Amino acid sequence: MHYSAPDPLGFFGQHGGTFAAETLIPALEAVSVAYRAAKNDPEFWAAFRRDLAHYVGRPSPVYHAARLSAHLGGAQIWLKREDLNHTGAHKVNNTIGQALLAQRMGKKRVIAETGAGQHGVATATVAARFGMECHVYMGADDIQRQAPNVFRMKLLGANVVSVASGSRTLKDAMNEAMREWVARVDDTFYIIGTAAGPAPYPEMVRDFQCVIGNEAKEQMLAAIGRQPDVAVACVGGGSNAIGLFYPYIQEQNVRLVGVEAGGRGTHTADHAAPISSGAPLGVLHGFRSYLMQDAHGQVLGTHSVSAGLDYPGIGPEHGHLHDIGRVEYTAANDDAALEAFDLLCQYEGIIPALESSHALAWAVAHAPKMDKNQAVLVNLSGRGDKDINTVAKLKGIEL
Ligand SMILES: *Cc1c(COP(=O)(O)O)cnc(C)c1O
Repeated sequence: MHYSAPDPLGFFGQHGGTFAAETLIPALEAVSVAYRAAKNDPEFWAAFRRDLAHYVGRPSPVYHAARLSAHLGGAQIWLKREDLNHTGAHKVNNTIGQALLAQRMGKKRVIAETGAGQHGVATATVAARFGMECHVYMGADDIQRQAPNVFRMKLLGANVVSVASGSRTLKDAMNEAMREWVARVDDTFYIIGTAAGPAPYPEMVRDFQCVIGNEAKEQMLAAIGRQPDVAVACVGGGSNAIGLFYPYIQEQNVRLVGVEAGGRGTHTADHAAPISSGAPLGVLHGFRSYLMQDAHGQVLGTHSVSAGLDYPGIGPEHGHLHDIGRVEYTAANDDAALEAFDLLCQYEGIIPALESSHALAWAVAHAPKMDKNQAVLVNLSGRGDKDINTVAKLKGIEL
């Protein structure tokens, strides 16, 4: 199978593109031109690899979860340990790449928007690392809910801008960040946190996160002499998943599974699983893909136990990979994710992020039905230290 995407207009099949206000087009065009040049410049990638090695701590290992595998009694479960990265998740792979591009474009100032705060922290981190001014837009309600991450960003020297308009959450923070970008495009770079947004962001974020799958392919070959039977990742906007999947797309023997946030069930209104719930195409945040919306095209509210998966859309390349049948998309509910969270803590001594626990939940459900000689590679996108208050509350424990 030959796979090539996006096309020159930034479309992955019927998904993606640029659906942005006219005032934003020159800024996006400038990022596209700069990224095109960087992508073909070996020195850009050398600088990227240097930072991934010495600052992020890559390569992250693959780890055989032997006790968990034995407990489940089926396929061998392997974990790609993105939780061991500096800042505790995969997001920093992308913010390092975009900060290097910003530097190359001569920008001294970066902006970002964040909901749960994880991307805000990853952006504030690289802004400090590269000596750039950093402004993070955040809904006023999210600022209340995510106080520890807000404090982290401030410790790292970022200015956190409270957005009190609209629903006072991520959507409004995004609008505000876009407005700010239009006003300050001469000295400002907009760092997007997932494989979504207008072109060229989905392609660029994928290219930066591909280090996950490229490393995993080498590591699995060294570890078991072949590739895993299944590679599985959780899907919010889709950056950790596309980073793992993309290098495997041509490997027809590797089954690829993306796990959306099933919340209280995809048959209820409380989930964040656009593909699994059969959501139609829609436009949000500058691109077209499957989008949870009502009959009038208004974006629906979402629910997930994990803040990082709580997004009504999905990155355009995932929409396309679903359409062509190369990746299977399914959902794990809150309860299944929490059960997988407990199992990894107790059998492996690893506290996973609640987001990553959704990918683990797939392995917990399916490994027992597989053969002991088969291998499932789970992308452990992040560590769960950030989630312990949420988990304690759900267990009715007061910290
Ligand atoms: C943000 C986040 C996610 C979801 O984002 P994607 O772009 O879908 O990868 C998943 N896991 C962790 C640990 C995160 O912080």
